[in-house]
Amino acid sequence: MAVSMRSALCGVALGAVLAVSGCGYLGGDDTPAVKVDGEATHPAGSTMAGLKKAGTIRIGVKFDQPNVGYLKKGADEPEGFDVEIAKIIAAKMGIPPEKITWVEAESKDRESLIRDRKVDLVVASYSITDERRKLVGMAGPYYETGQQLLVRTDNTDIKGPEDLSGKRVCAATGSTSLVKVEKEYGALPSPAGNYKQCVDRLGSGTVDAVTTDGAILLGFAADDPEKLKVVGEPFTVERYGVGYGHGNTEMCRFISTAIRRSHNDGSWIRALSKTLWRTTGPTPPPDVEPCE
Ligand code: GLU
Repeated sequence: MAVSMRSALCGVALGAVLAVSGCGYLGGDDTPAVKVDGEATHPAGSTMAGLKKAGTIRIGVKFDQPNVGYLKKGADEPEGFDVEIAKIIAAKMGIPPEKITWVEAESKDRESLIRDRKVDLVVASYSITDERRKLVGMAGPYYETGQQLLVRTDNTDIKGPEDLSGKRVCAATGSTSLVKVEKEYGALPSPAGNYKQCVDRLGSGTVDAVTTDGAILLGFAADDPEKLKVVGEPFTVERYGVGYGHGNTEMCRFISTAIRRSHNDGSWIRALSKTLWRTTGPTPPPDVEPCE
């Protein structure tokens, strides 16, 4: 992002978060987003104490979503806003970013990864829902977005969800996005493992639209603006939470405090400015819910 553009964005009011950070974070994308809290103390016997002692943590993120959770070809580590949030939480637990084991968490696998203890946390565009909360713990939210539509630039007949009836629409299996367009808007569902597969189907003409959260779709459109565009206004509210083991209230409290602290110490807005800000512009952090 050009420096002049950054200074212009500094004028946009983001409430307390921006006031605290004073826009100083916009000076460079190389600023480390996290400060590891080596002195972090956790309740004896808690999951956090165990993880800090082990010095490592396994975190499930997306690998295919630009600016959210994305593993570039040939890269060792994923990048994106979710990845930054995961690093902030690990750092506040006392674990440095290089000690995180990143695990791909496709939409349909998020609950089983947590329940089968294959990961310690999931930070993967994971909307908080009552149904999911029956299976896993979800702390947050740390981000808010809404469902939208991605179509080919030459498409003129899909402008919003009411135009989807009888249209072939791709979304990831296990996502809130797929259920919504199928049940409420009469779309012909085309389920995929992930959103990259959906975007490939859109390019080849196998589907008419891809649907999921605007924050995700804007990244795909920005990568291929000649061919892809996001249309219509958001038609749902998606509040991203951090997934953890069901019933682990200590973990919920720890994550919630870590997210709240990230609002005040500038790390949340710095994470946004390095990632999603490019396509979504500045957005304020949602209020974190209390645990139970
Ligand atoms: N946020 C939605 C969900 O959790 C859609 C994005 C996704 O599939 O990761 O289902």
